[in-house]
Amino acid sequence: MSKKVLVLPGDGIGPEIVEQAVRVLDAVNSSFDLGIEHESALVGGSAYDETGSPLPETTLTKAKAADAILLGAVGGPKWDGLDMSVRPEKGLLGLRSNLELFANLRPAILYPQLAEASSLKPEIVAGLDILIVRELTGGIYFGQPRGIRTLENGEREGFNTYVYNESEIRRIARSAFEAARQRNKRVCSIDKSNVLEVTVLWKEIMEEVSKEYPDVELSHMLVDNAAMQLVRAPKQFDVMVTGNMFGDILSDAAAMLTGSIGMLPSASLNAEGRGMYEPCHGSAPDIAGKGVANPLATILSVAMMLRYSLDAKDAADAIEAAVSKVLDQGLRTADIASQGSETVSTSQMGDAVLAALKA
Ligand code: NAD
Repeated sequence: MSKKVLVLPGDGIGPEIVEQAVRVLDAVNSSFDLGIEHESALVGGSAYDETGSPLPETTLTKAKAADAILLGAVGGPKWDGLDMSVRPEKGLLGLRSNLELFANLRPAILYPQLAEASSLKPEIVAGLDILIVRELTGGIYFGQPRGIRTLENGEREGFNTYVYNESEIRRIARSAFEAARQRNKRVCSIDKSNVLEVTVLWKEIMEEVSKEYPDVELSHMLVDNAAMQLVRAPKQFDVMVTGNMFGDILSDAAAMLTGSIGMLPSASLNAEGRGMYEPCHGSAPDIAGKGVANPLATILSVAMMLRYSLDAKDAADAIEAAVSKVLDQGLRTADIASQGSETVSTSQMGDAVLAALKA
């Protein structure tokens, strides 16, 4: 049976980088005989311009029917003055909530060839390959009650609720263990169980779910220590799983270890493993239309899509190997250029990955 991919180029550099990623998808689709069909739709500012909505009904219907979604990026100064309800970002949030994409997978991979780009010493980060699994639709960002109230003495008080129920913890735990099975089979669960009851329960459920995955090793770490370990010795981790707020902070710190935003893919998955795949960066309006954007994060998002939603691990491995080969050849887009490297355009980088795939 054919598998359906919905392609959402979006705004800014989105269409340029997605074009290259789709060329790579087409190449592995035919060489690995994957039977993937894809079609495109509008999202974000470009969708607003055409239809008056950043997430048109037709796009949402196609997204619900797809096995996976490949997104470029949304947003830009052109739409900054719009009302919040129709801002391009609403298109993205609408997709996440309508498809219940609760598991956000953000790898922090540092190709050894780019070790100089990191703010940490090359020997600490060269070859870094960790995956942060962040719960995306619960926790303190969504807990009720929340607000700012005025107390009897006239002083104002802000409050939020940090809450997770067992089923929310169980499903993100399973996402982490499943992801670890595709990697080095180690999960480190991050909590603050010395202070917060909600994470005492988190830890307990992690232990319970780990019994379903005897082939995966589970460990626990307090979030403050995890932040320290991420910058002290990040290569000790394989998969880190944590709640929405801790994951928000730790995944940004981990991304910066690699020093190159144009290289980082991401996935947001639902309970059935269907998901949306996109680069971690935004629509880069400052370089849009110039043909200089780095397409590798989007190309690597295709590899994640093949691995996690389309059951095509070999094709995913082939794309990642091709990217590594291109970096070995010294080819760099401007954002990752260094002394002695050859600076190439967006489409030349796409050409190089395709050539490496065929070689
Ligand atoms: P950004 O990630 O778009 O850009 C930050 C810097 O990184 C810029 O200098 C940009 O040129 C550079 N950069 C980003 N991606 C690159 C690539 N592939 N190749 C080379 N250089 C690259 O972040 P920003 O400037 O804060 O935001 C711009 C717009 O993107 C805003 O409208 C924002 O809301 C939106 N945004 C969208 C998403 C998304 O769609 N998921 C995520 C973040 C920001």
